[in-house]
Amino acid sequence: MTEEEREEMLQQLLAKQQAGELKPADRFDIPPQDMPVQDASERTKNVNEVATGYTETQARLEAMRCLQCKNAPCIKGCTVRIRINDFVAAIADGEFKKALSIIKENSLLPAMCGRVCPQEVQCQETCTVGKKLKDVSKAVSIGRLERFVADTVEGDEVPYVAPATGKKVAIIGSGPGGIVAASDVRRAGHDVTVFEAFHKAGGVMVYGIPEFRLPKAIVQEEIDVLTKMGVKITYNFIVGRTRTIEQLMKEDGFDAVYIGVGAGLPRFMNIEGESLVGVYSANEYLTRANLMKAYDFGKGADTPIAFSKKVAVIGGGNVAMDSARTALRLGAEKVYLVYRRSEKEMPARVEEVHHAKEEGIEFLILQSPKRIIGDENFNVKAIECLKYELGEPDDSGRRRPVPIEGSEFQIELDTVIMAIGNGSNPLIQQTTPGLEFNKWGNIVVDENCKTSIEGVYAGGDIVSGAATVILAMGQGKTAAAGINEYLAEK
Ligand code: FAD
Repeated sequence: MTEEEREEMLQQLLAKQQAGELKPADRFDIPPQDMPVQDASERTKNVNEVATGYTETQARLEAMRCLQCKNAPCIKGCTVRIRINDFVAAIADGEFKKALSIIKENSLLPAMCGRVCPQEVQCQETCTVGKKLKDVSKAVSIGRLERFVADTVEGDEVPYVAPATGKKVAIIGSGPGGIVAASDVRRAGHDVTVFEAFHKAGGVMVYGIPEFRLPKAIVQEEIDVLTKMGVKITYNFIVGRTRTIEQLMKEDGFDAVYIGVGAGLPRFMNIEGESLVGVYSANEYLTRANLMKAYDFGKGADTPIAFSKKVAVIGGGNVAMDSARTALRLGAEKVYLVYRRSEKEMPARVEEVHHAKEEGIEFLILQSPKRIIGDENFNVKAIECLKYELGEPDDSGRRRPVPIEGSEFQIELDTVIMAIGNGSNPLIQQTTPGLEFNKWGNIVVDENCKTSIEGVYAGGDIVSGAATVILAMGQGKTAAAGINEYLAEK
């Protein structure tokens, strides 16, 4: 469909709507609007965003597919309960500013969530249109619409900040949870300082998720709003090393603390060869490539990264897809994605799997490395893999991968990236007596995100284990409400 044809269709639908003749059948007849993307052969040669965004006509047509269900099942599918039906209706009416303000009632970061939220297992999974068409990919594209308004409406308004209360709050970590917590606590008039270990704010959104999925300028805009609100950000400050939480509270005058340090500790497989040159954790690989801009090494960036020709990424989540696609963009000729279950069990977003395949990444499904083999200089030269089959479901509900004995085979390569998950960094646990953690090293909180220490709240991946941006934001919001209430009574 050309843009002219789309425009003509939109005008006809609007005319019908005005005449009160628009029926659900007309809405079902509107073709789902595909997201325009950079061509696969082109995009692997640059780091620019893959999906380029809806046009205004596409957005309004897509919004008109919404049936405006009375019970709005989409809202129940949204972690932060955005009034989805209302913002989609506003887009259909061409009222983009109104749409954005509806989203912002519940979500501070629509440009990010519209891009990276796993909508297909949240709001879009419960969408009636997708259900009727028996295909979740044909549900109303709520995420793309969210992104459209966030990108289209100009100028980020600086939220109102209440008069100074004289209370000080420390936010540890500047990921999505920390950003939301800082904003909501600052709005209540408290003096807020964000302490961030890196030299840049944004958490995984800047050091992990690549530029081609989430442009860093978008994250920076939100950080700029925080600073315009008067939030102070102290960089290169590692809580637990530079100062402990106890020191912040007892010596530096902070009345409350939010801990949002994420799950930044990479896991390895504990197999032979993991210390060879050319073996990376996905965290290190992505941090070098994204935060430290290693893709520009020699052209202004100082951070080196392996010049890989043949790469194997181990894992099947978003982190694995991001690593594999980054390796391609850094010039690898061949990238394998090695995953020990079947594609059905892959935790990565369907869209990311689709894009990875389009870009030429070879999926080695039901396979897993047994050892990594090095040459005489301790450089990676191959991996030895085992083939697997699926057995009974395990604790996660997914079918357990069972190795097939004697199925070993080798793949020659020079780089291995481990993307099999992240745990929590033990630093806060080691330096904060009295703070309760569970057996996985996650901070224990109540329903208000309050920890075992008075005045200390926590949220995001350090509480739930590696999860999602929207979940971290939701907990940041809950914790901020808890902190505001606590300080109001203090
Ligand atoms: P994080 O984003 O983890 O940030 C924590 C911050 O705290 C970091 O900036 C860190 O430097 C800082 N910090 C850590 N320790 C200290 C300390 N001691 N002192 C001071 N600062 C400290 N989620 C999605 O919803 N969709 C996706 O597509 C998606 N893709 C992902 C891809 C990758 C590669 C990764 C790694 C994760 C992805 N996630 C995705 C998960 C998502 O990014 C996280 O769930 C989310 O960012 C967690 O937010 P958070 O607020 O807990 O903090």
